Amino acid sequence: MRYVEEFRDPVAAKRVLGEIDRVTEQIGATASSPVHIMEICGGHTHAIFRYGLDKLTPDGIEFIHGPGCPVCVLPMRRIDECVQLAENPQIIFTTFGDAMRVPGTGKSLMQAKAEGADIRMVYSPLDALELARRNPDREIVFFGLGFETTTPSTALTIQQAARERATNFSVFCNHITVPPPIKALLDDPHMVLDGFVGPGHVSMVIGTKPYEFIAKDYGKPIVVAGFEPLDLLQSVLMVLVQIRDGRAEVENQYARVVPSGGNPVSLAAINDVYEPRPSFEWRGLGEIDASGLRIRDRYKAFDAEAKFSVGYGADSRPGTEPDGCACGQVMTGRIKPPACPHYGTTCTPATPLGALMVSSEGACAAYYQYGGVRAPEAAE
Ligand code: SF4
Repeated sequence: MRYVEEFRDPVAAKRVLGEIDRVTEQIGATASSPVHIMEICGGHTHAIFRYGLDKLTPDGIEFIHGPGCPVCVLPMRRIDECVQLAENPQIIFTTFGDAMRVPGTGKSLMQAKAEGADIRMVYSPLDALELARRNPDREIVFFGLGFETTTPSTALTIQQAARERATNFSVFCNHITVPPPIKALLDDPHMVLDGFVGPGHVSMVIGTKPYEFIAKDYGKPIVVAGFEPLDLLQSVLMVLVQIRDGRAEVENQYARVVPSGGNPVSLAAINDVYEPRPSFEWRGLGEIDASGLRIRDRYKAFDAEAKFSVGYGADSRPGTEPDGCACGQVMTGRIKPPACPHYGTTCTPATPLGALMVSSEGACAAYYQYGGVRAPEAAE
């Protein structure tokens, strides 16, 4: 298959790995003094473990798993608010499947459904709008969740609902944006980050320009990457070469898919429907300025927060993380998943305690699925 097989070619991968070895050595990076490269996107974390790239690359490279899994970074309180909405007998609550098992303070959406809440899994926000058309006597709320990759489809659905003058459809908006948390991580004096592998899907929408501050203001290289093994290896090599040469630039390894200016149609829909919230809470990172989106006043009729008085501006209470849960430390790359006392014991994909074990893009689930279960005492 074009654009897939050539990016899985083992001969080419071997050649790039040889180059990575050589440049890592030129930099002088070793296991005790590694280069720290953050892959921002959860899809990249998954691919790194799936293809064993963490084991194939030299010990002088340490991958730090970033906050790019939207399910994982959602704070407990937002799940609690979803449950609150779902338990309203007027409402049919619609969501993507991966959010169903994310634990809230009291229960997950899956548990709320088992207790009788009318929660339905959908494949797109348009499915939720169709449900609204077919159930005029019920309120349909769609759980809008995700980065710039999924934000446009929710925006386009809200525009469609406005055109149809739908009165029983709204969105619980939890859309978030990638650049602000990267800035927050770079501002954290405890973080050691030498370079970034930038998200591929998000960049299809926003392009590469929004990352320029990483290179210009913080002097760190970033390379937007695809999701095949060779994409990731080439991107890691490009980051290493920049570090070796003392350069800090935004480069685009995924140019076959990512236009530098992004997708103008998607960007126009986003700008029409949403505006930045003053701040938004991220699991493990706390409140980050302008990192979340809310629905603009002109589309207020489709904003579930306003319609049902939940979330920001209402009586929103912080959720409580389970004792010993290290999701926040894993999210910020301070520890690897096996260092969490719950990893592989009280927290597994079948019985997740934290969100990072739920989503396939979560670092803990990726470790568990591809790295095997290790006893906590053997953790890094
Ligand atoms: S093992 Fe579970 S509780 Fe621990 S950090 Fe991972 S998801 Fe969170």
